[in-house]
Amino acid sequence: MVMQADYSERNLKALQDWAGTLACPVCFGALRLETAKLVCVECGRAYPVENGIPVLIAERAELSGGSAE
Ligand SMILES: [Zn+2]
Repeated sequence: MVMQADYSERNLKALQDWAGTLACPVCFGALRLETAKLVCVECGRAYPVENGIPVLIAERAELSGGSAE
């Protein structure tokens, strides 16, 4: 997994504001913003955030099923 360093801080702040209004497209759970991804608090899927834009596509989500990084 490559750390993305080129997302802008401003984008992330804006994202933080509306992350709470977004829902997981799979289970409709709430999404929590992490460093460069949106993580579903219900099913644990992690959606990538590319250049400050969240990619809420189920096929693109990473399933973090307990594996630590
Ligand atoms: Zn979910």
